[in-house]
Amino acid sequence: MRTENIAVVIYGLPGSGKGTQASLAAHAYGLVNFDTGHHLESLWYDPKRQKDPLIKRERKLFEEGKLNTPSFVLAEVSKAVRAIAKKGLGVVFSGSPRTMYEAERLIPLLVSLYKKKGVFFFFLDVTQKDAIERNSKRRLCAICKAPLLAKYYPSTKPKFCPVCAGPLYKRTLDDKTIIPKRVKEYNERTAPILKYLKKLGYRINKVDGRPEPFKVFQLLKKPVNNGLR
Ligand SMILES: [Zn+2]
Repeated sequence: MRTENIAVVIYGLPGSGKGTQASLAAHAYGLVNFDTGHHLESLWYDPKRQKDPLIKRERKLFEEGKLNTPSFVLAEVSKAVRAIAKKGLGVVFSGSPRTMYEAERLIPLLVSLYKKKGVFFFFLDVTQKDAIERNSKRRLCAICKAPLLAKYYPSTKPKFCPVCAGPLYKRTLDDKTIIPKRVKEYNERTAPILKYLKKLGYRINKVDGRPEPFKVFQLLKKPVNNGLR
C-alpha cells in the first residue's frame, strides 16, 4: 500500500463529513486515522498503565463525563503522534486539535515531524443548516462504527450496517437538542484555530463539503497530490 509521510488536518462543522474524509484519506495515502477519543479510551484500559495515578485520575474524569485535563490530553496525543512519525507513517486528524491550547502546541509538532510542506489543512464547507440536518439523521454501526450514508442508501428505515450487517444506532451526541450546542462550541473554540493558522501563513484548503463524499474526496486530494509532486 502507498504510504505518504504527511499530516492531514480536516476541520468543519459537526456533520460536515470530516470523519468520512479522514477515513478516505487514511486509505488513499496509508495514513493513521488518529482519533483522540479512541486513543484516550485505549489508555484508560491499558493493562500496563493501570497503576499510573495520572491515568486513574483522568479515567475517573472520563467516566464521570467530565472533560479531561488539556495538558494531559496534549501530552498523550503528542507522544502518540511522535510514535507514528517514528515508524515512518503519516497521520490524519478530523476536528482536532480542537482548542487553541492544543493547536498552538500540536501544530508546531506536526510541522517539525512532517515539515511545513507535508502538513495539509482542510476546511469542509457546509452550511449550518446542512450540518444540523445531516447530524440529526446520522446513524452509526454499533459494531464496526461505519457511518450510514442514509441519503445514498436504498431504504427509508435502514436497520443494518452496509459493511458488516451490525445494528445501527444514533449517538447521544447527535441528538437534536445537543447538535446546536456542538455547533456553538465549534464556532467558539475551533473556528479561531483556522484564523490562527492563516495568521501563521498556513494555507487552509477550503473544500465544498456538500457533494457525495467520494466527490468531496476528489477535491481534497488535489492539493495533497500537488504538494507531493
Ligand atoms: Zn458495521
